[in-house]
Amino acid sequence: MKLKVVKFGGSSLADAEHFKQVASIIKADPARRYVVPSAPGKRYKDDTKVTDMLYNCYDMVRKGQNIDEYYGKICDRYNGIIKELGINFDISGELDYIKSALMHRSGRDFAASRGEYLNSLILAKYLKYDFIDAENVIFFKDNGTFDQEKTNEIMSRELLQHKTAVIPGFYGVMPNGTIKTFSRGGSDITGSIVARAVGADLYENWTDVSGFMMADPRVIDNPAAIATITYRELRELSYMGATVLHEDAIFPVRYAGIPINIRNTNSPADDGTMIVAETSDYDTEKVITGIAGKKGFSVITIEKDMMNSEIGFGRKVLEVLEDNEISFEHLPSGIDNMSIVVSSATLDGRRDKILASINRMVRPDSIHIEDNLALIAVVGRGMVKARGTAARVFNAISNAGVNIRMIDQGSSEISIIAGIEDHEFDTALKAIYNEFVK
Ligand code: ASP
Repeated sequence: MKLKVVKFGGSSLADAEHFKQVASIIKADPARRYVVPSAPGKRYKDDTKVTDMLYNCYDMVRKGQNIDEYYGKICDRYNGIIKELGINFDISGELDYIKSALMHRSGRDFAASRGEYLNSLILAKYLKYDFIDAENVIFFKDNGTFDQEKTNEIMSRELLQHKTAVIPGFYGVMPNGTIKTFSRGGSDITGSIVARAVGADLYENWTDVSGFMMADPRVIDNPAAIATITYRELRELSYMGATVLHEDAIFPVRYAGIPINIRNTNSPADDGTMIVAETSDYDTEKVITGIAGKKGFSVITIEKDMMNSEIGFGRKVLEVLEDNEISFEHLPSGIDNMSIVVSSATLDGRRDKILASINRMVRPDSIHIEDNLALIAVVGRGMVKARGTAARVFNAISNAGVNIRMIDQGSSEISIIAGIEDHEFDTALKAIYNEFVK
């Protein structure tokens, strides 16, 4: 029998109806033995996630405000779920304890983590699965980074003693015993860590969409779904803003070679997207796997005759960025010029200083910064094999009347990046999409 770890996102557990749906998904396959829930998410568009409500409580206490009424709303959500599920479970002691801990300022991360904690207690009770608190199996180091080795060893030993278990997402424990969370959306990471620890055959990540789309649905109407994507392709796309899965969730399972399957709780019959380590298969018709992009970049362009023969030129320029704690995104360069693409926000308040330092370090003939650059990444493992893909991308963009300001084909050969003006972003994205997806 296969072993699956299943993670359910906040929208999949926003109310009792969703809890029932989640339980039926879990019970439909005995391989789904380890479950990682998020905190209750939004039930409707203007609703507030429980995690955000807990952060708000924390802030209110800090400002000296009374949280009785507001915290009462959190209690109502959980009590409402329990009541509608018809289980005999009293969490009032837990709720009182958490409230008093909040009032005694027991930490922002502690506050946020209780959303997952309570949801997991309820789900475990409802499913009749064991409850394993993440604070006993997920460890951070003193410097706040995740302690992979310790976690894997202890979690593995602990979980394999339980046939079925629910482990809250999003948090773990610091060496001094305080609770620490991952960054927002971090339950995805917990799911991945659990999958690795128990040696799962598959990590199912259940959310409210049927996997990854080939492009952002806010720009492309009803984009095609991606059936299979490799970890590397996913990295390229999520780096460019395609969000379904937390970026860091890839690492533990990738390390262990466990595929991730993104599934839709509201449409469980859909296959969703499979994220795999390697596959040479690709859709010969579509060729590319996905397109994603981001606005808000700037290009620092430096020109100097004979730059190519000046040893250490690049290093000196990059050193200036390093001293200013700026990371660069791309570095397209020519013989006598070098361009550095950075996110515009990182330049705020430091432009003059950076220009002056570069001037001093390498004495260029000219140097200037241009803003409003958008980057579009066209990603696909099939690109290396399908000739003419780059030409098709650039033709599509220019046929749409959009000027290409920068091109970068990563050495990975799974992506082509085009830089265009911010305001032409949608036009370019649509043009590329239409070129490849009929
Ligand atoms: N509940 C947390 C958040 O809202 C973590 C998660 O959902 O994965 O960010």
